[in-house]
Amino acid sequence: MDFRDVVAAKRDGAALSQEDIRSFVLAFSRGEVPDHLAASFLMAAFIRGLDSKETLALTSAMVESGATLSLKGVSRPKVDKHSTGGVADGVTLVFAPLAAALGLAVGKLSGRGLGHTGGTLDKLESIPGFRTDLAADDFERQVERIGCAVAAQSSELVPADGALYALRDATATVPSIPLIAASVMSKKLAVESDLILLDVKAGSGAFMKTPEDADALAEACMDLSGQWGREARAAVTDMSQPLGEAVGNALEVAEAVEVLRGERGGRLTDLALEFSVVAQRALLDLDEAEARLRAERALSSGNAAEAFRGMVEAQGGDPSVVDDPGAVLPGAPVVVPVLAEEPGYLAGVDAEGVGRIAAVLGAGRARKEDPVDPAVGLILTVKVGDRTERRGEIGRIHAAEEDAAGAAAERLLASLRWSEKPVSPPPLVYRWRESPNG
Ligand code: URA
Repeated sequence: MDFRDVVAAKRDGAALSQEDIRSFVLAFSRGEVPDHLAASFLMAAFIRGLDSKETLALTSAMVESGATLSLKGVSRPKVDKHSTGGVADGVTLVFAPLAAALGLAVGKLSGRGLGHTGGTLDKLESIPGFRTDLAADDFERQVERIGCAVAAQSSELVPADGALYALRDATATVPSIPLIAASVMSKKLAVESDLILLDVKAGSGAFMKTPEDADALAEACMDLSGQWGREARAAVTDMSQPLGEAVGNALEVAEAVEVLRGERGGRLTDLALEFSVVAQRALLDLDEAEARLRAERALSSGNAAEAFRGMVEAQGGDPSVVDDPGAVLPGAPVVVPVLAEEPGYLAGVDAEGVGRIAAVLGAGRARKEDPVDPAVGLILTVKVGDRTERRGEIGRIHAAEEDAAGAAAERLLASLRWSEKPVSPPPLVYRWRESPNG
């Protein structure tokens, strides 16, 4: 097959056959299609779009490109969860142990941060000793024993996604609904679970800038899980501002520990609770009130924090991070407060900009192979709708050097919009969608 014909057909707006897409993706994954041709295919798909049959064919081919994980040895109901990427999005750090404390099992394969978004693996690796390179057998045994494990996706699992994602990142073809849907769902479908939960982010810190676009992405993902016969739910959630207060690896772990110990409310806690309620309703057949009560108790009783301790210990990390995160996690040498310039109500946040500030401080990476500094980042304590007085503290910069801290503080102030009049906070969850067989 001459793969230029496949690219030309998509370029001209034709719908591709399942076989064309399958052959193209599998050949690319084996290294038989050069990057320039695959990049042209991605740009043609980005501009022309893929219909639901083509998106399914792409997803199936991506799953077929590698191994799958059955998690057959796990006896509890299994829930998997994925976020399309955001800023201060520590939901997985809270949700996995919380779900484990509620009698569910979470075997989660996570990614690293790229660009302005953080990655769960980088966050967990800020805990001294924590390992994310688990062998498939150890991963499964840990999920059965403790109820949760968070590990790096191996190169055998959906290798086509790894290669295509890197090319999309390099060719400005990431924010496409069918390409994201295929990328996200191929990773979820390659791992067995009884329920897939997706957190589809909408707003300035997300790939989808509006709730409408995010909802279309959620629908495309639910369509795929329905066609695959897998039960799934997708929430369209707000990413018009950072979800939690901390942006940066160790800082986000410290915040998650406070949530897990039942010591912190706010939007991060509320969203983790919401996911745990939906998971329990679907898998344990509980009603909303009972599921919520159980989840709140798991936080206040310390059971969720103990599940996190079990996971950290099993993966080689220092378990006392649960007792005293400040003593265990690396700290930045320079910490400076950020003060509001004028009184007012917070009206808007360039959340992507905030993610980039943390990345420039060293918390994130521009290229896959770059190292991260686990200690640095920022705290932004105000949320849209909050009122602040002039010179009131609205956050802190944690930096390696004074100059970097000063520049970050200035950029943080520039990423915030203020109003003299009261502002209503955006909803946390815009809507939920179910897969057709959910
Ligand atoms: N997350 C993914 O896993 N894939 C994408 O394409 C975008 C976000």
